[in-house]
Amino acid sequence: MYTNAIELLEVSPRDGLQNEKQAISTADKIALIEHAIAAGARRIEVTSFVNPRAVPQMADADAVAAALPDRDDVTYIGLVMNRRGAERALATGRIDQLGAVSVATDTFAIANQNQTSDASVAAACEIITLAREAGRTGQATIAAAFGCPFEGEVAEDRVVAMAEALARSDPFEIGLADTIGVANPAHVARLVARVRAAIGPIPVRVHFHNTRGTGLANVWAAVAEGARTVDAAIGGLGGCPFAPGASGNVASEDVVYMLERAGIGTGIDLAALVTANRWLGTVMDRTLPGMVARAPVFPKIA
Ligand code: ZN
Repeated sequence: MYTNAIELLEVSPRDGLQNEKQAISTADKIALIEHAIAAGARRIEVTSFVNPRAVPQMADADAVAAALPDRDDVTYIGLVMNRRGAERALATGRIDQLGAVSVATDTFAIANQNQTSDASVAAACEIITLAREAGRTGQATIAAAFGCPFEGEVAEDRVVAMAEALARSDPFEIGLADTIGVANPAHVARLVARVRAAIGPIPVRVHFHNTRGTGLANVWAAVAEGARTVDAAIGGLGGCPFAPGASGNVASEDVVYMLERAGIGTGIDLAALVTANRWLGTVMDRTLPGMVARAPVFPKIA
């Protein structure tokens, strides 16, 4: 039933920080990326190349890209919404993979990126093609795949049809995102299975927010259905400026604890993640929502 190796995609530098009111320095963002690499992360969403007026926290995208540690073994992902963002990201020469976002409903697509849902699928396909033409890879995430802050329930058929349309541009992977943290494990199991059947052999990645406490259960359900990669953020930081009520991503250290204790390898060092959580807590000047870093070490180190 279970795969024996799951890849963790560290999203704290982008999804984790983008909604923070307090300005985080470029140096601290790079230090966060270095912490993630030290813990074993080999795919990291480092920033987004979007309008700085819409997302001020990501205004230093070019500076972050320029300062990324020189690592051949790490895939650096830049999130982009359109051709202009893709060209900006590729021009840095430091972004290995473009991440595009297609939104499952029109109302949220217009709020998030000023285009309809169908237009967001077309834009993602264009971004994936641009990445390939530049010798990089591109992937797409279907946002609000499990529910929309404006329209409520999202039909599974709609998400499957979007995944099929995205698959025609031959992306590196397709992600399913519970942007506002409303998914439950049964829904996740059904949708991951249906999307995998529709787009195989393209891998499925999942992205959960713990807004209603179902984040880890959803990760478990997705892994059981063959999702290959799990997005997570050190400390469980996160939110979305365009999704009312969105809160933190599942915490990297909580996901790693659960999977590794269950015998599913992640390649990530839990103790190093806890160190990263403590460091990030001092930068943010608060205790972060992730739970494992607040609990005693288990099992005890002899
Ligand atoms: Zn998110």
